[in-house]
Amino acid sequence: MSFFLMQADTFYFWFGYIAIFLFGAAIGSFLNVVIHRVPREDSIIFPNSACPGCEKPIKPYDNIPIISWLLLGAKCRNCKEPISVRYPGVELLTAMLFLLVAWAIGFTWFLPAALIFTAVMISLVFIDAEHMILPDVITFPLLGFAVIVRIIFALVPGYETTFSDLGAYPLNAVGDMPLWLLSLIGAALGGLVGGGSLWLVGEIWKRLRGVEAMGLGDVKMMFGVGALLGWRLTLLTIFLAAFTGALAGVLVIARSKDKDMQAQIPFGIFLGIGAVAALLFGEQLVSWYVETFIPR
Ligand SMILES: [Zn+2]
Repeated sequence: MSFFLMQADTFYFWFGYIAIFLFGAAIGSFLNVVIHRVPREDSIIFPNSACPGCEKPIKPYDNIPIISWLLLGAKCRNCKEPISVRYPGVELLTAMLFLLVAWAIGFTWFLPAALIFTAVMISLVFIDAEHMILPDVITFPLLGFAVIVRIIFALVPGYETTFSDLGAYPLNAVGDMPLWLLSLIGAALGGLVGGGSLWLVGEIWKRLRGVEAMGLGDVKMMFGVGALLGWRLTLLTIFLAAFTGALAGVLVIARSKDKDMQAQIPFGIFLGIGAVAALLFGEQLVSWYVETFIPR
């Protein structure tokens, strides 16, 4: 009997992770459409995907995530125009990240919210990398989504600890208040810490140096990220983004011939990476930091 149960557990374990991987690859395929069309202000639903070279609609059997790109030898079946490695890249990345999110969060009711957040971050990272913009049609819904998730999970029994900022200063010092309202205040505080701090840095930099350092897209993106993650994980996001962004900046300048070049690196890339890292491992990172560096 126990042998049979163990077998069933193993089956569900693998079934769950394989399903989430395949689901991630399919969502990655959709994100490719978003990344390609949203900056061009095209509809993401109509028409069906077509080859950018010959404009021939892509057949369903040539549109299987990752596999079709490999089978086609990275070329359009019709006009032989090369297909960017970004397409299978985004599909594989989304599949792997979905796997990682499921592993880190577990199969709970919060998992769908975490997956949506991750998918939004992937689309923003790739759009910012290619077009140096973070479109309002993504960042505004992100903020709305964050606020709704904040309220819902404060109301679902058993999910009271989803947002760690509710148990931390200053929200734990607020007197009697329904949890959903406290969660909403946490969202506002997180949004201000995320979007507000970036806006302030941009303003100060503009006054001092006379150049635009921080795009408003980054500010809007971080209002949404901050609203969902809360102020602690948002500070961590900005720290991780600044650290990895500076590292990438140094590498770009070191590899370029022109040493005086001002590296133009879209910061949204690093904010997106930082936000996903903070969502998945933020709590562990923050408590490790506090235990290691804050004397008591
Ligand atoms: Zn073609």
